Amino acid sequence: MEISFAGKQALVTGAGKGIGRATALALARCGARVTAVTRTQADLNSLVQECPAIVPVCVDLADWAATEAALKDVGPIDLLVNNAACTKLQPFLEVTPDQFDLLFNVNVKAVLHISQMVAGGMKARGSGGSIVNVSSQASQRALRDHTVYCATKGALDMLTKVMALELGPHQIRVNSVNPTVVMTKMGRLGWSDPEKAQTMKSRIPLGRFAEEEDVVNCILFLLSEKSSMINGVALPVDGGHLAC
Ligand code: NAP
Repeated sequence: MEISFAGKQALVTGAGKGIGRATALALARCGARVTAVTRTQADLNSLVQECPAIVPVCVDLADWAATEAALKDVGPIDLLVNNAACTKLQPFLEVTPDQFDLLFNVNVKAVLHISQMVAGGMKARGSGGSIVNVSSQASQRALRDHTVYCATKGALDMLTKVMALELGPHQIRVNSVNPTVVMTKMGRLGWSDPEKAQTMKSRIPLGRFAEEEDVVNCILFLLSEKSSMINGVALPVDGGHLAC
């Protein structure tokens, strides 16, 4: 399936590493003008070296005011990928308030904030648009030591649905992808232990973790006109894990 984003402006958060970085590069390859947002300047430097057309923005998305200042001049955006997220493994009884606040700030509140800015512009221009939130199988499956992360992704799925409901009349579609484990920096944090990894893989009918490309392809599809009647879905990219 040929997908072209020629003439489109895209913004990807968490574009320094992992799935976000691969998404930014794929969007650029498909012709979009890409703004890449992340908090580590060195990642942006290497990204721009790899693809000089990408516009870098360095900001910590946990900081509402700094995000507003950093993004106020990015211009009209047609395609938004809310990908940035963080996690910290803590058993339920040891969850700390600082980690609760940090994860909800980045994984949920920043998505709301950036989406308000971007969708507000789409609505004002009457241009429509497409937004993809990167959620997780963790929104629908309890994972040990992932209390707050699971809770943020559950919240993100419901945020996606309400955004789809309210923004749909403005021809702005909002969907999420919900991957299983991908061995990025975040994936390695939770699943490097071979025993844990094997237990998780045994619950995935296809018997393997996802690759970055598996997730990126689904994000591109949901951003594109090929999915023009799809709005408000949480698309598992999980080899069947959530089906059983
Ligand atoms: P990753 O390799 O850790 O990359 C995350 C990116 O987001 C990094 O560039 C990171 O920057 C950036 N980021 C994190 N906090 C930020 C903040 N406060 N401000 C700005 N940028 C920030 O993670 P990933 O695995 O690619 O995850 C991408 C998305 O997929 C996330 O939403 C994650 O929840 C979801 N997901 C991942 C998996 C998995 O197994 N990997 C599975 C399901 C869903 P720094 O490195 O500088 O912090």
